[in-house]
Amino acid sequence: AISLQAIKKSFGKTNVLAGIDLDIRDGEFLTLVGPSGCGKSTLLRILAGLEAPSSGSVMIGGKTVNAVRPADRNLAMVFQSYALYPHLTIAQNMMTPLRLRDLSFTERLPIIGPMLAREKYRKLQHQVQETAKVLRIDPLLDRKPGQLSGGQRQRAALGRAMVRKPIAFLMDEPLSNLDAALRIHMRSELAELHRSLGTTFVYVTHDQAEALTMSTRMAVMMDGHILQLGPPDEVYNNPNHIRVAEFVGSPK
Ligand code: ATP
Ligand code: MG
Repeated sequence: AISLQAIKKSFGKTNVLAGIDLDIRDGEFLTLVGPSGCGKSTLLRILAGLEAPSSGSVMIGGKTVNAVRPADRNLAMVFQSYALYPHLTIAQNMMTPLRLRDLSFTERLPIIGPMLAREKYRKLQHQVQETAKVLRIDPLLDRKPGQLSGGQRQRAALGRAMVRKPIAFLMDEPLSNLDAALRIHMRSELAELHRSLGTTFVYVTHDQAEALTMSTRMAVMMDGHILQLGPPDEVYNNPNHIRVAEFVGSPK
């Protein structure tokens, strides 16, 4: 399990996170919602290790990971800009997780190395194929990102994250670049993907409709605090704060 303990963050004199405690359950689809500037992205970046907290601990599997580099946390960050390499094919993009440091000493040696590493590449190629099938982008593997629609690019970016088999997906407004119809379509796709993978999703959005339709639990953030945390129907029907009610649009 992943948890945040008493996380505080300030940039200069601006206090962005005011002491966040959050236990993320294994396999849940947790959305972090709240108005612009409330600290959602900052919280996600701290979880991913892209930003250090001013104080507090990030725990994964019972261990503090504050000093662990992002790449070693085994979390997959999916950004709203897809961050695919434009000059590589989708298949090559999905292979990029295999980096030099994933290779053993002997696999890095010239001549013998590539022969040994070939097995690793073959396995990865298979994984890329399987992942692409799940996401229904297998016919697109030889194309470049520029030849894909927004939704397909989004799936390719997800696919690249999936190949690594991370313990959790961290997504920061991954649908915000898509047009309205596709965004709504992708909501059900993501919810379905979450069901089939069973992996933890932590999903940041300022769109309360996304949170209400996709998540198993939602955390409503305001001014660096989590005001309410619970299943979407509970937050919607029993908001614990007037500002939560206003934000999620609860009936009066
Ligand atoms: P949005 O919904 O608009 O994406 P958010 O909830 O993700 O908003 P954050 O990006 O976490 O908000 O930013 C929270 C606050 O921290 C904002 O006031 C922002 O200006 C400030 N902030 C974020 N990153 C930095 C930084 N690197 N330096 C200074 N201030 C920052
Ligand atoms: Mg943000």
